[in-house]
Order: sequence, then structure tokens, then C-alpha cells
Amino acid sequence: MDGATYVIDCGRSSTTQFVQAGLRFDTLRSIFITHLHADHIADYYNYFLLAGALPDQETADALATTVTAYGPGPAGGLPTKFGGGDAPTVSADAPTPGLVAFTERCHEAFAYSSNILLRDAGIRDIRSLIDVHEIVHPDVGASFTNTSPRMEPFKVMEDDRVAVTAVLVPHGPVFPSYAFRFDTEHGSVTFSGDTTYSDNLVTLARGSDVLVHEAINVTGPGVTLPPAAMDHMLQSHVEVQKVGSIAQRAGVPTLVLSHLVDFDSEPIDSARWKSWAGQGFDGEVVVGDDLQRISVLRKG
Ligand SMILES: [Zn+2]
Ligand SMILES: [Zn+2]
Repeated sequence: MDGATYVIDCGRSSTTQFVQAGLRFDTLRSIFITHLHADHIADYYNYFLLAGALPDQETADALATTVTAYGPGPAGGLPTKFGGGDAPTVSADAPTPGLVAFTERCHEAFAYSSNILLRDAGIRDIRSLIDVHEIVHPDVGASFTNTSPRMEPFKVMEDDRVAVTAVLVPHGPVFPSYAFRFDTEHGSVTFSGDTTYSDNLVTLARGSDVLVHEAINVTGPGVTLPPAAMDHMLQSHVEVQKVGSIAQRAGVPTLVLSHLVDFDSEPIDSARWKSWAGQGFDGEVVVGDDLQRISVLRKG
């Protein structure tokens, strides 16, 4: 956005793909985390380990300023085990760290490497490169047992380039799980994050130029999910055959499918997914792919 880069979620290889996409770390301003599933945060700390230390020798690229990170606070509790019975608890005395504690614990876990490199290579103090803000949503009675009550979009941050709003979305037992909307002077884009069907998301996305929405396919001869597991899956994700109606309700002109999982076959059959997602939707469908560029520039 006009020379500043904002990253939404940091799954595995995010830092690699960031470079592959032709972006520079010295333009990175903020990171937004929708929720704390590992496939959304595996590479989060890597931005600071890899890009924060010393400039890359070829590109002279490194983080230029402290990066602000916005993401979930602690869930406050754990759900019961799906299907009944007991599950073991990792880190039982603090089992639901939010983004602040997650970052602190990464600092601790990497302390030896950081301390050596501070002495041996003169790197910057990694703690000075991250400024974490846990998102505070309005009090609508949400909790880890009531993850996504109906709510109006609320403000997460605003700088000279973007205004970011969010809502809570229902993603199975995960709490909190956010969808984000970025409004800029050139256009706006909404990211669903991981969610099942959500009126909150429709409200957030209304009037956006682009809606980036997750989708799964659970139809076809190769699908072997038992009914209970299928039901469970659909409490966390949206079927690709139904995502068009969400975009239609939100009134967006462009729907981009992202975070695709096909329980029938791999690889994703893009043409099929495009026609599935187009059901009940008058706008343009884009089946997202790695390193794809999608302009948010408002048409006309
Ligand atoms: Zn998730
Ligand atoms: Zn995910």
C-alpha cells in the first residue's frame, strides 16, 4: 500500500514467499494475525529472526523499523475434547497464550541464539523489532464457549495508509478468531480468516472491493470423512459451494478463494472451484494461488 507492506497471517514459508513475491522487509510495517492456529503463525517469529538481524548481503534488505503486530489475546480456557474423553494439556500452567505471551516465549526459546548473535555479530535486539498489540474486541459476551456472538465491526488500528477493522468469526472451538478489513484511499479488501458461515463477516465485508475468503470442498467420491467429522469440519470452515452466497450478500464485486482444502482430491481443480464458488454470485471469482497479485484498485 503506497510503499508500505502489511502482512495478514504468517503460515509456514510466509517469509520465503514474502521475498518470492518481490516484497522488501524494509517496507514491512505491520503484521495482523487472525487466530493462533499453527498454520497461521508458524513463520511469525521468523520475520524477526531472519529479517531483523542483519541486512541481506545481496539486497541490503532488513526490517527498517519496529513492526507492529496485531493479534489475538489469550483464549481464557480450552474446549472439551471432540468426541468425548480426555486430552493431554501442553504447558498446563499456561495453556492458552495470546500473541503477547507467544512472542515472549519465542524470545525465551531463542534466547541463546539471540544472545550469541548479539555478542558475536552485533545484531539488533530482537525484542526491539516487535511491538505486539493484542486485539481488544467490544464486550459482546464473547468467550471460548461463545466464540462469535453477533457484533458490529470495530477498529483495530489506523495509520496514514490503512484503517483496519475486525469482527469475531466462528472457527470451531478457536477463540478469538478474527476477520479483518483494510480500507485505503484506493479501495478496500476484507479477509475472512478461518471461519464457517458468519453474519459478522458479511457485515464487515459489505462494500469491500475484494473479499478474500477461505473455502473447503467436502463433496466427491474421494471424500471419506465420517458424518461426525464432516459436521465438525463444517463448524470451522465454509464449503466452496456456499461461499458465493456470502460474497453476494456482502455485495462485493470480487471474491478471492484462499486457504483451500479439498477433501476429495489434490491438486485443486481451479476451474471446478471457480464454478462452485460462482454459484449464487454475480461478481468475479478468483481461485487464489501462490504469489498471485490481485489489485484492489477500485474500478472506474
Ligand atoms: Zn484455523
Ligand atoms: Zn487455517
